[in-house]
Amino acid sequence: KEELNIIQGALELRSKTVEDVCTALTACYMLSSDATLDFCTMSDVMQSGFTRIPVYENERSNIVDILFVKDLAFVDPDDCTPLKTITQFYRHPVHSVFNDTKLDVMLEEFRRGKSHLAVVQRVNSEGEGDPFYQVMGIVTLEDIIEEIIKSEMVDE
Ligand code: ADP
Repeated sequence: KEELNIIQGALELRSKTVEDVCTALTACYMLSSDATLDFCTMSDVMQSGFTRIPVYENERSNIVDILFVKDLAFVDPDDCTPLKTITQFYRHPVHSVFNDTKLDVMLEEFRRGKSHLAVVQRVNSEGEGDPFYQVMGIVTLEDIIEEIIKSEMVDE
């Protein structure tokens, strides 16, 4: 029964898109690029439990960096280091994908690439003005694996 589920999940990777499985922007735990890595912010990051934290400038839809929690290993909260100092040191690339990217393509990209998180964007052509790119959320390797095994993974 379980195997059948997994086979079905694997077959569906070709039809489902990242939009179907992504975490909405409103639900993302993020930091503002002008944040300071003081005790308060650092303990908040630790409590969030996330490994990768998108960093936005001015508005949440403008993701400019990714902070990895491991980047904080040498940061002393007493130094009140600006977040920018750390993100500019590590410069992790921010990968973007379109909302209609199929999960099998995304899985292959995650397999080849260095990052296991991508920002999901779509072209918004509603309304009067010119079409523009709109960030919808984030997708990680875990979102795809959950789709294959058809059940939530309990975090460590
Ligand atoms: P982590 O290693 O941080 O637990 P995973 O890649 O295992 O993250 O993803 C677990 C789930 O959490 C996925 O559904 C993913 O979309 C979501 N997720 C990952 N990072 C964040 C974040 N910063 N804010 C909100 N949700 C996130």
